Order: sequence, then structure tokens, then C-alpha cells
Amino acid sequence: MSEEKLSFQAEVAKLLKLMVNSVYSDKEVFLRELISNASDACDKLRYQAITEPALTADDPDFRLSLTIDKAARTIALADNGIGMNRDDLIADLGTIARSGTGAFVEQLSGDAAEDMAMIGQFGVGFYSVFMVADKVDVISRKAGEDQAWKWSSDGLGEFTIAEAERDGRGTTIVIHVRDGEDEWLEPERLKGVVKTHSDHIALPIVLQGDDGEESLNAASALWTRPKKDLTDEQYKEFYHHVGRGFDDPWLTVHYKAEGKIEYSVLLFVPTQRPFDLFDPARRHGVKLYVKRVFIADECEGLVPGYLRFLKGIVDSEDLPLNISREMLQSSPMVTHIGKAVTNRVLSELKKKAEKAPDEYAEFWQNFGPVLKEGIYEDTDRRDDLLALARFRSINSETPISLKDYFAAMKDGQKAIYYITGDDADALAKSPQLEGFRARGLDVLLLTDPVDDFWLQMVPNHDGKEFKSVTRGGADLSDIAVDKPDDATDEDATEIRDSEIATLIALLKQNLGDAVKDVRTSDRLTDSAVCLVADEGDIDMHLERMLKAHQRLDQASARILEINPRHALIKALGARVGEKGAADTFADIAFLLLDQARIIEGEPLPDPAAFSRRMADVMAKGLVA
Ligand code: ADP
Ligand code: MG
Repeated sequence: MSEEKLSFQAEVAKLLKLMVNSVYSDKEVFLRELISNASDACDKLRYQAITEPALTADDPDFRLSLTIDKAARTIALADNGIGMNRDDLIADLGTIARSGTGAFVEQLSGDAAEDMAMIGQFGVGFYSVFMVADKVDVISRKAGEDQAWKWSSDGLGEFTIAEAERDGRGTTIVIHVRDGEDEWLEPERLKGVVKTHSDHIALPIVLQGDDGEESLNAASALWTRPKKDLTDEQYKEFYHHVGRGFDDPWLTVHYKAEGKIEYSVLLFVPTQRPFDLFDPARRHGVKLYVKRVFIADECEGLVPGYLRFLKGIVDSEDLPLNISREMLQSSPMVTHIGKAVTNRVLSELKKKAEKAPDEYAEFWQNFGPVLKEGIYEDTDRRDDLLALARFRSINSETPISLKDYFAAMKDGQKAIYYITGDDADALAKSPQLEGFRARGLDVLLLTDPVDDFWLQMVPNHDGKEFKSVTRGGADLSDIAVDKPDDATDEDATEIRDSEIATLIALLKQNLGDAVKDVRTSDRLTDSAVCLVADEGDIDMHLERMLKAHQRLDQASARILEINPRHALIKALGARVGEKGAADTFADIAFLLLDQARIIEGEPLPDPAAFSRRMADVMAKGLVA
């Protein structure tokens, strides 16, 4: 069969263009990427061979081998891993298969420097070879198949596929070194790169030289080596390989559990938030190994969804090697290990929060919204997770813990007050907070979508109820208002009880079903009005969110609270007895309600009517 010519998927072509015109300073990472792939390919086959031993019977020892041909200006990297057939080559080296990555590439701006910085967040894998190559041949034969295939490309939009010959299974990548990139043809240079970036690879990597083979790495699984022998650099390189992250690990957790159930753990928390953190699949990055043999990429039950930012490995000594991936999720052993690993990670996070609060604040910024999912779903660890949580609040510049919040509680304070919304700065200006501010009470500003959900699951903490400042009665009468000593009440005239009662009656009569109730407010000091939800009703922010997702079509009526100390309300109170008041109050009632809706961020049901009423009232004011 002759050669076939195929085009790269558009996203790949875009990536390749960046690679070919690379401004990336760290070109040497291309070798790490290829070695990482070769090692993965061996891991995959080793796993498959547990159930199909014939696949590796003729060549049981996995290895990677590098060959330099200076005359031909090529470097070849050969592995005896799982290999790729024609379809695999087209899918794996012609498209971007990893979920989320394609969409990520689509967002690239076209500005080389900016894009390279973005790409730095996830790495480009195989395609990075085009930073140093002007042509690449991939000759591969899949384990268990007879036909080999050759994939070739100059990285300029197209690639070819043709039948080929290869002795035995595996893949050979032939890199045709580009002019000006001659350093890669030097054995010492390549050796250095392998030492720096690939020493953690558990398989032997050898360099073929004129006088035989030279072994380039320690060839033992990194996590089996004693902690004291490992450097930060080695941990970091392993993290890059296993986690496909390009940042530094923010936290490294490496230990061996001994006793009835034995396993090793090497886990990392990234420094940067991965781009696919909020992928609905909530996949985690912890691989399961059994006695150094790779078993599964994402083993359900090993770590909970709310720790999905973890990258790394768990290597069990006790699970049977031939356990199927399907059986893993119901394995009590996996459940046991998963529980212990989760507890360990949470306790490491706690330590970090105590020892390095500033670094912890950065972690929380990235992964707090994910950990909070645990408050919702992990009832056993709810208190631990609440203790790890940090919140913005109206009284503090920096995020605080619940412990900090409790420490600053006022005499008579019965609840942990919070407000939820989309934007903390906007929330901080909410009228509902005025009465709390006046009393020096702190209020948590919660802006993650998950907040509304976990709050429903956690009615109280340490004996105090979580209470939304936009729902139910504020009940602030027991708490003293902090008044600066020299404060003078400029307008001490109190509105009379009878006036306020009449005003409320008039407002209710005019607003009808548009509100559930009208009442005076403890929570307002500066604003005239605000909306709140009734005690048993759904919180206003949650309702808006559910409506946005078409989970709710009927909005509940709200309570309109009015501020009896506000000049406008006082003036209205003074007018309630006048003749014809009932008529003029229709427009006024709706203007008050619409005003409260606007501050709340709720859409006005009838903006035209609002505009007309506003114009009428302004005109009267100007003409009078
Ligand atoms: P990633 O490693 O993140 O999946 P890469 O771009 O590095 O992305 O590789 C793309 C895919 O190509 C791999 O997932 C794998 O399926 C395939 N592949 C690459 N190199 C090899 C190899 N040496 N042997 C077998 N498959 C390979
Ligand atoms: Mg890769």
C-alpha cells in the first residue's frame, strides 16, 4: 500500500505552528516529553500483559534506547511498549484527544509569547519535538499485531502514513534535527537532559554508543527510593511526568504505609490551578500501581472528587496484580487506602495552613472552591474541611477561618452571618449589611457557586447557626450599635409608630402579590429599602442561580424591608395622613420595590413602568 497524506486537526496545526516558530526557552523538554510517552507506553503494555502474557513473552524486559547518528543528523528514541497501529497513529498524533485540551487550544490568541505562557500550563507533549526537528518519523508496531506503520511529518499542517517494517513491538521516534539545533546531536547534551528531567523513569534508559550501551538513569521507581536521597528537582520532574503539569508542586506528600495493608504514596498539589479543574467529569490525577506495575489512571474510590487537583501515585503491595479496573472501585482494600490517603492529605493541608498561612492562602485561592465540594458531600470530614476553609469577610482584608470568625464574635451574637453572590466587591456594598456593619459584626462574603449548596447541608457549626443576612429576620436588636463617641444624631426625630403602621399598610395594599410582606428593618442604616427572603424560603442568590440553569421557573415573593430612620421613609410617613395619599402611593410603592430589586441585582419585571414612574416623580419634584 502506498503513502497516505492526512491533515492535522485544526487545533494541532495551531499548536505545531507555535512549536515550529518556538520562542520557548526550554527546548530540552522535548526529550522529556518523548521519554515520558515511551515510559507510559511500556506501563500500558505491562498492564495488558498481566491478562495476556503472550504479548510480552518474546521480549519481557522493558527499556528505552537512544541512538544518535551525527552523519544523518538524527536522534532515535526506541521503546518496546504498546506501540500504535495505523488508526492509533492518526488519532494520537493527529488530533488532541485529552479532554479539555482541544477547547483550551481553541482559546489561544495567536500571539506567540502569550500563547507559549498559556501552553506552559499544560505542556504540549509529543508535538514539542518540532521545536528541534524539521521532520519526524514515527515507526511503530502495536503489541500483538504484525504490521508496522510509519508516520511522518514536517509539522507544517500535514502528515503521511505508510506501511513499514519494524523488528518486534514498540515505537521508534526518529528526530531529524533542524539546522541550528546541532547541540542535540551531542551525546553529553542528551545525557544531561535525561539526568535532569528523566532520572525518575522506572525503566532503564540507555544510550547506544560506538563502544556499547551506556545506562543513563537510576531505573527504579522514584517513590520506592528513600526520601532523604531525593531532591526537590527530582520530585518536580516526576510531578511533571505523572501530573502533566508544568508548574512546581505546591505540596509534596511522600510516605510509605506499613502494617496490615502496605502501600506507598507520592502525591503533589499543583501551584497553579489546572485548566480543566472544573471539568464536569471531576477526574483526578492519582494513578494506581500494584507492586510497581501501573494499573489505572483514575481509580474511582482512591481519592474523592473534591481532591481531584491531586497528582501522583499510590502503589499497593497487597492488591492482586490481575485485578480488573472494573473490580477496583468495589475493592475494600482500595476503599481503605483511599480513606487513609484522604485523611493524610487533609492533615498535611492543615499543617501547611498553620505553618505557612500566606502560602496556604494561595492554595485556597486556587483549590478552595473544589475542597468546599467536600463540605457538601463528605459528612465524615465536614468539620475538618470547614476548619481548612478560608472566607472573605467584610471586616478583614485577608481571608479568615471560621476560628478567626468565632474569635471576633460580639456579645449577644447568635449566628455566623454570611451573604452569597457572584462578586465579593459588589456583595460588600449590599444594603442588607448596613446594620451588621453598624454593630461591628463580621459577615462572610461567599462567592463560589458551591457555597449555596454546602450551606444547605451545614445548618450550624460549633453551636452557631449559619445565617444568611438576606433571609429571615435580622434579629440584631440584642446587639449594641458601635457608635463613635462624638457621633451626633443629626435628625433625631423618630417616625411615629402609627405613621409607620399606616405606611406599611399602604405599601402592602399597593404592592399586592409582588411582595410577601412589608416590614421595618434592623439591618438598614443608610439605605431606605432592601429585599430579603422569608425564613423558610429559598435564598435569593441560590434562586437566581437555579433560575439561570432552568432548574426553577417560579420566583418566590420577597419581603420588602423599610428603614424607619431614613429621611425618605420619614417623609413618606409624614404624608400618609394627607388627602389623596392612597393614590400617589401606588407609584411610590413600586419605585421603592424596584429600587430594592436593582440593588439586589434582580431584573425588573417591568422596566418601562419603572422608567415612567421615575420620570413622573422627578417631574413633580422639579415642578413643585
Ligand atoms: P499525552 O502523553 O499527554 O497523552 P502526547 O502528545 O505526549 O500526550 O502523546 C499523545 C498520545 O500519543 C499519547 O497519549 C499516546 O497515546 C500516543 N503516544 C505517544 N508516544 C507514544 C509511544 N512512544 N508509544 C505509544 N503511544 C505513544
Ligand atoms: Mg505525553
